[in-house]
Amino acid sequence: MSDKQQDNPDDDEDWMQYSNAGFGQTDYSLWDEGEAQVEAKPSKVSDLANEIDADDDMEDDQLSTHVEEIPRAPSPAGHKHLVRIGTCDHCLGRVGGKKMFDQSIEQAGIAIRTSILRGDSHLEKIREDNPLCPFCENLYQESELLADIIFDSLHPYELKRVQLGARFPKDQMESEEEIRKRFGAGGSDALKTGLVAEIAKNLNQRLEGVKIVNDKPQIVALIDVLTLTVELDIRSVYIYGRYQKLERGIPQTRWPCRACKGRGCSRCNETGLQYLKSVQDLIGNPLIERFGAVEHSFHGMGREDIDVRCMGSGRPFVIEMKSPKTRTIDLVQAMVDINQAAQGSVIITSMRESNRSEVVRIKETPAEKSYAIRFKLLPLSEEEFAVLCAPVDLTHVDVQERGKGKRNKRRKNRRGDRKDDHTKPLPSVIETETVAASEEELLAMKKGELVELATSLELSKTGTKAVLIERIMQAGPPAPTYFELPTNEIIREVVSKLAGVKLAQRTPERVAHRRADLIRRRVVYETSDVVIDIDEDGEREVEFTLRCESGTYVKETVHGDGGRTQPSISSLIKAKCDVIWLDVADIHAD
Ligand SMILES: [Zn+2]
Ligand SMILES: [Zn+2]
Repeated sequence: MSDKQQDNPDDDEDWMQYSNAGFGQTDYSLWDEGEAQVEAKPSKVSDLANEIDADDDMEDDQLSTHVEEIPRAPSPAGHKHLVRIGTCDHCLGRVGGKKMFDQSIEQAGIAIRTSILRGDSHLEKIREDNPLCPFCENLYQESELLADIIFDSLHPYELKRVQLGARFPKDQMESEEEIRKRFGAGGSDALKTGLVAEIAKNLNQRLEGVKIVNDKPQIVALIDVLTLTVELDIRSVYIYGRYQKLERGIPQTRWPCRACKGRGCSRCNETGLQYLKSVQDLIGNPLIERFGAVEHSFHGMGREDIDVRCMGSGRPFVIEMKSPKTRTIDLVQAMVDINQAAQGSVIITSMRESNRSEVVRIKETPAEKSYAIRFKLLPLSEEEFAVLCAPVDLTHVDVQERGKGKRNKRRKNRRGDRKDDHTKPLPSVIETETVAASEEELLAMKKGELVELATSLELSKTGTKAVLIERIMQAGPPAPTYFELPTNEIIREVVSKLAGVKLAQRTPERVAHRRADLIRRRVVYETSDVVIDIDEDGEREVEFTLRCESGTYVKETVHGDGGRTQPSISSLIKAKCDVIWLDVADIHAD
């Protein structure tokens, strides 16, 4: 408005004088956004002006033609106008701009009405003539009822903190806003805020030990003023703990039956589950009854494969109880009962109350883990060895590593890490030089080399170069040559030297369908506890513990994954390593 004032000083001159004369003592600005709204919607305002004219023959001429000239509350003329259009006591107190600290809005409204009626007693019956308050459409009359409805809906729930909200029809909000900004005192509460405060006041008298809050509510009660119904948003209860999984074949989270997707079919014995037991259900099902919750969801700090056990101090998790009726239970007793019911397949410890933000922490903490792994030693051929050591295409190194801060920035600039490099697919088959040489290669060799090659292939080494080449070519590819199995000393040495090694791990084929095909760099921090046994077939089995960076593919670190993980125990000891089992030995977090 001040812009307009400057643009058209002449047009506004009279209006300026009028306003300066009439409102010298008030502390609000005439030039606020309320005025702009009136101008933006002239038709509504003139409708209102017509109503005013019809209702009131006492008013001076100005009002009948220039509706803008009705002053806003808290000027006495503004108050009078509010009374005249049928404003209820609550809204009069809310938008009248005269509420004192120790007054309710209703009391403030009654005080304003009383003072207006003193001068204009003919307005005494105005609420009978205009029974619908133009601001709240008489919703304030329902505020006790609304409080009742909320109180009843909260009854089944244990709670300490509730937040209230209200849902209004949009057009009601808009029209209230428009007349409030036109006639109400500047800074008056909006209808929604005001009504919610009134409901809160009524509710407060009934609720014992429950705070009405504006943040961290346990329940949000949203009242729909049109239907007079309440919608409750019941916030989850979160419980922290750690679990050990001592039995293989149990998934961490509930896994719906593949055939029926959880509906229940003959394949899953009508359970809807692919695996009868899961860590989530073993912990969550006993808790759901105690909390009177609807369902649970499980947030683990990482996860282990279904056939991997989880030992040591266990994996941190937060389990979420959705829509709980009870929020406080005896967690120690619950823990004992859960462990008893799980019959040793899962053991939980350290259970305590948690919260939503801990879920984020649990999810985002890249947990460093120790693993125990056992494998069988088998002979490795030279060709297989060549595959295990074939050059790795490092243009696909994963640069989106989490939580690396500064280091990440530097990595971004590293050669070969450019984004466009990632569009080139990695070769699906790792190629190595064939041990059998081609004719061209043989022709390029010196006679001495050919003699050596013929000897190594157990062929006669006599004759000219051409004869030797022909003999070698006819012999075809050599029978695979196997490396001698390493001694126990070599195995121990290689395993101990793996500590500190940075592995290059291309996404294993077994997970390639759900992970980008990239090469990840992961560090092995520590290796220990090497045990070498001989099994009933006389073959050697090796078991050891390793601690490595989050996201390391551990089985692959041992068997080499056909050259996708380098280096590997297999390539370093030149023996095939058949993994028998893998356990999470411990999780180094919290
Ligand atoms: Zn009202
Ligand atoms: Zn099924």
